[in-house]
Amino acid sequence: MSSIKRKSIYLDYAATTPVDPAVVEEYRRVQEYHFGNPHSRHAFGQAALVELDRARDVIAASVNAEPLSVLFTSGATEANNLVIRGVCDGLARGKKNQFLCSAIEHPSVIEPAQWVKRLGVGVEMLGVNRQGLLRLDELEAKVTDDTRLISVMAVNNEIGSIQPVSEIGAWIAQKNADRSGREIDPILFHVDATQALLTLPVDLSQWGADFCSLSSHKVYGPKGVGALIARSLQPLVPFMHGGPQERGRRPGTVNVPGIVAFAKAVQINEAEKSSEAKRLRSMRDETLDVLRSTFPDLQWVGPVGEQRVPNNLNFYFPGLDSGTLALTLDLEGFAVSTGSACAAGAEIASHVLNALALPFSPRSSLRITFGRQTQAEDLKQFVAALQRVVTHQRSLHRSTSSERS
Ligand code: PMP
Repeated sequence: MSSIKRKSIYLDYAATTPVDPAVVEEYRRVQEYHFGNPHSRHAFGQAALVELDRARDVIAASVNAEPLSVLFTSGATEANNLVIRGVCDGLARGKKNQFLCSAIEHPSVIEPAQWVKRLGVGVEMLGVNRQGLLRLDELEAKVTDDTRLISVMAVNNEIGSIQPVSEIGAWIAQKNADRSGREIDPILFHVDATQALLTLPVDLSQWGADFCSLSSHKVYGPKGVGALIARSLQPLVPFMHGGPQERGRRPGTVNVPGIVAFAKAVQINEAEKSSEAKRLRSMRDETLDVLRSTFPDLQWVGPVGEQRVPNNLNFYFPGLDSGTLALTLDLEGFAVSTGSACAAGAEIASHVLNALALPFSPRSSLRITFGRQTQAEDLKQFVAALQRVVTHQRSLHRSTSSERS
């Protein structure tokens, strides 16, 4: 393998994105000039409140919702916890209640799902097909009159599969129309849109969604900021207590500079979303062609074409450990992931890959995600580095197995 040190190329945009310089400037402006507490009555507080309200308008408009429905949080993990724990806690006790989500949701949905079992809520996971797409027939089979909340991610963070959220929303709306005649509580629909906001339209009305989770650091904004869009506050109860902020659902002094910076990032991203998505999609498809011709045994994970987010590639090589490949690529100057950052940190097999029941049952795979700063040349260099790394790993494998024999 070559020992030449190349410039580092960041290919892990699904883990987090670099903050836009204009967003950093916006953060600095608010931190410096509008440091007041927006809940204070004096002029300093009111100036901060104006900034906060403006940011709320921007976020609401970007997802086609009302400003009042935006509840700012510390990110999508908190938004997911708030909606699942908050809705399940707010449901009538003494009734059978059911929560449904897909088996490939982010841990910030899967783990609250386990938690709400303590409240007596029944929890069911919905399977996906080999492409990581939700099966509507399974949804139909698992929904009962007790189902109160369904949570589906718009885009999977590991394999980039795009779920048919509008179809699910339309199906739920029909089910609810039927329920209203029978005096059964409606099903609420939550969409985790964390990985969708970067490249896809997010439209709560079109999706028929009651709740939606967003995160700033996935769209070139700062970390530790996000939102739960809640079109209804019933039956959402807070899981933290101690203040009236965010309509009492998220107490605590609001992170005004972070939120204003989040809104700025969203505004910039919305302006360039469709042209950037087109650019990323063409780089994705070209790279996939090159990968397939370079590595005949490469196992592709997830869908291709329109059912996949434009900036995600995911694959593995039978017999080679993806974790070792990712570490060696890092030494070569390419930052890639082996699935979700959290799954990689915890060294556990990916629950997403498990749910897909793939050939050779890989524990992990290589995830390449790219964005604004990525050029076609970077991906070409990546494929060349991958070729060196794979050849090297194979030669190590061959020599250890011949030593053994
Ligand atoms: N949902 C999905 C689909 C994600 O990809 C992530 C981040 N990896 C989260 C939720 C959590 O977001 P945050 O980092 O803002 O807590």
